[in-house]
Amino acid sequence: MILQGKTISPGIVRGISHVVDAPTLLAAAQSIPAAGAPEQELERLSAAVGRASAQLDQMRRHLTGKISASEVGIFAAHGSLLRDPKFLSQMEAEIRQHGQSAGAAVSRVVKSLYATFRTSNITLAQDKATDILDIGRRLIQCLTDASLADDELGANAVVVAPSLTPSELVKYAHQGVIGFVTETCGPKSHTAILARGFGLPLITLNQATCEKIPNRSEIVLDGPHGVIVVDPSDDDLSTVAAIIDSIPAVEAPAEPASLQTITQDGVAIRLLINISDPTEADAVAQYGAAGVGLFRTEFLYMDRLWWPSEEECLEIYRDVSNRVGQGELNIRLVDFGAEKCPPYADFPINRNPSLGLRGIRLLLQREDILRPQVRVLAKLARERPINILLPMVDSMDTLEKTLEQLCRICGCRSREQLPFKVVTMIEVPAAALLIDDLITRVDGISIGLNDLTQYMLAADRDDEYVGPYHDALQPAVLRTIANLNRSAAAHGKPATICGELAGDPHLTGLLLGMGTRQLSVSRTNYVQVVRAIQALRLDKMTQLAEQVLKLNTGAAVRQFWADNQV
Ligand code: PEP
Ligand code: MG
Repeated sequence: MILQGKTISPGIVRGISHVVDAPTLLAAAQSIPAAGAPEQELERLSAAVGRASAQLDQMRRHLTGKISASEVGIFAAHGSLLRDPKFLSQMEAEIRQHGQSAGAAVSRVVKSLYATFRTSNITLAQDKATDILDIGRRLIQCLTDASLADDELGANAVVVAPSLTPSELVKYAHQGVIGFVTETCGPKSHTAILARGFGLPLITLNQATCEKIPNRSEIVLDGPHGVIVVDPSDDDLSTVAAIIDSIPAVEAPAEPASLQTITQDGVAIRLLINISDPTEADAVAQYGAAGVGLFRTEFLYMDRLWWPSEEECLEIYRDVSNRVGQGELNIRLVDFGAEKCPPYADFPINRNPSLGLRGIRLLLQREDILRPQVRVLAKLARERPINILLPMVDSMDTLEKTLEQLCRICGCRSREQLPFKVVTMIEVPAAALLIDDLITRVDGISIGLNDLTQYMLAADRDDEYVGPYHDALQPAVLRTIANLNRSAAAHGKPATICGELAGDPHLTGLLLGMGTRQLSVSRTNYVQVVRAIQALRLDKMTQLAEQVLKLNTGAAVRQFWADNQV
């Protein structure tokens, strides 16, 4: 079966599908035919119940003392539900009386219980509906193959899920998953950025198509073309062969000496790297980059069961620092909120995630998160120069409050005494409008184009339905970038662009022409951006950008840039 989807992260892999969505797993299980007599199916069911209970017990023991007692209690509650005689007898009846397979029996009973709980108007029953689904998923996974449990992913697993949060993606990447298929994922979302950072393909399919992928089937992802081949038939083999043949040969890594970031007319550009995972910082030495322009620290908090200690954090920051060597190191204070919440965090549920409590506003309310991070960064700053990036600053009020807090935590009387430099992110339109004021209080700015575009154009970066509106080539966004560069230059302070657009080599000339002299890009785009810098003349780009800034539609900008491509 060949499916056409949309590329979110490129890469070509061949592996085994691992469907993690409970409804899909249950739907697929419903059509599993009985492989033997009812007694055999009953035995399979009983073995699966035993295995699932053992997993839950193991997790409960493993987590006791590490997470709160009430959270540990969830695993105990799932265990009791699983062994509930009524639940078991309903599944057994499906096998005995209706000749169902164990998988189909689980699916039918779980779906019917789920529907009953879900439609109940008692809140407690509605909560139970999710538990039932989770138990159903675990049971089906234990029935299909014991190795399919989340915590025991097999080799070459390609995760297929309706959607993935950034923390789920990090968890799977750390478990060795080689690719992803989801129903939704905005190309500028953190999940997409992470997949590209890890170099793992991610393709989206619509829901009806995604549901066609069975669990544990052979699957080939052709990231560059958005093509997915599932359980290849004889007719599909030539397509698979062509996909595999198109995997580019591993090129010898470019020598840093050949990666000088100097334009044809001799202007040096500072090119840095965005990282989420410490290992990504190796690219600094590999390419001879100017350093890490943005370390998204929130992902250190994701693939774990509880808040990291200050010692653990310091160790991680030191690790990154060693990898960066003499290069510049910009570490962002955690930008929690929206879809970036550690699974154990007790943050308020935002009715509208991208407009809810997020970034520095959240940190100002949560000293218990801000203080340890700043203390650790202050320690690191005694070992090497670092810049602290403030996420989602919206006003002078917020900036001043933040500077006060930083001073208090570091025991400094004034902002000038802080052990690190302070750089504000510009991601909120109000901050962009106030740039001439904000810039006087910081050591530099970092233009987060993903969010700035989202908030300027009222287009959720995670929502692919408004994807075309999340367009950084809109004149309003371009003129804002040019104004930010102008203001920073007038104040003699550095401005870095660090959103996804910074990594698009076709637009490097435009950004430089608008006054940008520092870019921070994903390591996967680094070499292409270097080649773009080396190929252009800045004087020509400056003239072209002047004309672009007079255009008043996104379409005209695109057309002009395509016609004048160097
Ligand atoms: C941005 O908003 O452009 C940015 C760099 O921050 P993040 O993508 O992590 O929100
Ligand atoms: Mg941002």
